[in-house]
Amino acid sequence: MSAAPHALIAGAGIGGLAAALCLARSGFRVSIFERAASLEAVGAGLQISPNASAILRDLGVLPLLNGSALAPVALNIRRGRDGELLQRISLENAERHWGAPYLLAHRADLQKALFESITRDSRITLALGHELIGLNTGWRSVEISTRNGAAKTAHRGDCLIGADGLRSFVRQRLDELRIEKGRTAQPSLLPKRASQIAWRALVDADQVEPALRLPQTNLWLGQGAHLVHYPLRGGKVVNVVAIADAPANIDWTADIWSEPSDCNEVQNHFASWHAQARTLISAASEWRKWPLVALPPLPEWTWGRVALMGDAAHPMLPFLAQGAAQAIEDAAMLGAMLLPDAPIAPCLAAYAAARRTRANRVQAASRRQGWIYHLGGPAAYVRDLRLRMLNERQFFARYDWLYRPRPDLTNYKVENEN
Ligand SMILES: Cc1cc2nc3c(=O)[nH]c(=O)nc-3n(C[C@H](O)[C@H](O)[C@H](O)COP(=O)(O)OP(=O)(O)OC[C@H]3O[C@@H](n4cnc5c(N)ncnc54)[C@H](O)[C@@H]3O)c2cc1C
Repeated sequence: MSAAPHALIAGAGIGGLAAALCLARSGFRVSIFERAASLEAVGAGLQISPNASAILRDLGVLPLLNGSALAPVALNIRRGRDGELLQRISLENAERHWGAPYLLAHRADLQKALFESITRDSRITLALGHELIGLNTGWRSVEISTRNGAAKTAHRGDCLIGADGLRSFVRQRLDELRIEKGRTAQPSLLPKRASQIAWRALVDADQVEPALRLPQTNLWLGQGAHLVHYPLRGGKVVNVVAIADAPANIDWTADIWSEPSDCNEVQNHFASWHAQARTLISAASEWRKWPLVALPPLPEWTWGRVALMGDAAHPMLPFLAQGAAQAIEDAAMLGAMLLPDAPIAPCLAAYAAARRTRANRVQAASRRQGWIYHLGGPAAYVRDLRLRMLNERQFFARYDWLYRPRPDLTNYKVENEN
């Protein structure tokens, strides 16, 4: 019997860890290289929509999130300036309708659950503190080099999955390889200016009024800005995300997950909003600022034995809360398409072909959603009128294309641990 093929993965974010699980179940030996020295509790709340939770459930990851993830019972949509409730959608039937739960979790809790799953799988190894700094690919293998402090190490594998996020080294290196072969580069360089800023904070639940601690997702809409909040970690904290059209230059050398922000900056942006929204914003003592950028869809996600996934392949604006969910779908598709006995490059090309149209659609829909959220004047009035007329059935139908788990991505069997 021939040895299992060896997949290398750059990045141990949500996408990279999920891909490792899917590829191991498909019969690969997997080595993950993560730049960070430890998987720290970075990030904030994530909405795990049913299209992603179904995959996590089939991978056996969901039970590990028990206790830390929460299923909201309703979505409340309010007007920012006066707090008027524009719509309340019950989510009690969400799991029955979509066939998998809609969950709220901290990114770090999901990353930890994925990490626990990979540590139980002897086919997967994770090298922390290993930054990918070199990549070459040939007909027979992929060669990468990583830096760990002053030490550089070379590694060889049958394929490389670039799950190294927004500022992907793999994406940039693939462009160089394309140019070396006389092909044109892709529009893969991130813009130096963001059109929106997201501020994120976690507020102790006992700092906010009881209504804001209920297991519900809350969305407030205003001209050029919106606010999202929901409880996390069994209701112990409230996750607050405030987003405003606020052009900003980006310093890509800074760590964008953890850039601190002055509390006054957020408060000033929402100074004319309803008192309840302002009180919540004032309750946060520590904000992290995140410039929002996206890329136009990349024409190609693969180059021979190398493929991109997650934010490296399709960085998207967060207005549909789908960045991590789409990375999890990528992971499942990689597991479905890469078979240990089949030639790698055509399998990776098939993965990209199967995923690109959907990811492009979600990218475009996310951008459009942001535009709708931030409308002002008569256009906002019409939007609010339509929101008021929406009923639960129409709301569920509107998101079917996005949330309904795809049968081709949820066929994993939970394996017995040994
Ligand atoms: C305000 C906001 C709210 C959001 N809310 C949601 C939500 O509710 N639901 C949702 O699904 N998504 C949401 N997202 C998006 C989501 O957080 C991201 O899309 C998702 O985390 C991307 O996962 P990833 O694994 O592709 O990349 P990342 O999580 O960025 O992981 C990349 C990993 O690669 C590592 N790395 C980078 N370079 C190298 C290198 N050279 N060598 C080795 N390792 C490297 C990094 O350290 C990191 O660990 C939100 C985003 C924002 C901005």
